[in-house]
Amino acid sequence: MKTRLEFQCWNCPKTYTLLREITDVETLFVACPYCGAEGTVELEPFKKKTTLIHMGTTTVYRALPDDKSKEEMVLELPDILPTKQIINQGN
Ligand SMILES: [Zn+2]
Repeated sequence: MKTRLEFQCWNCPKTYTLLREITDVETLFVACPYCGAEGTVELEPFKKKTTLIHMGTTTVYRALPDDKSKEEMVLELPDILPTKQIINQGN
């Protein structure tokens, strides 16, 4: 499923939205539609291991590492994802 995500360009620095499929990847590659700057977004810091606990009509998230069967990885993304300049190594 693709999600509309908002990014902030590291270069210009405008914000823009892109449809992206969030899979197991830890880094998204994006290109700013305004200035063309390519950048990366690291998703790893936003991954949270949580356990879903249903309490009536409310679902709460709790960090609980002791029951693997209920453990889920969720992404808690900010409204606007910061992008980073791609560092070319060895150039
Ligand atoms: Zn830009």
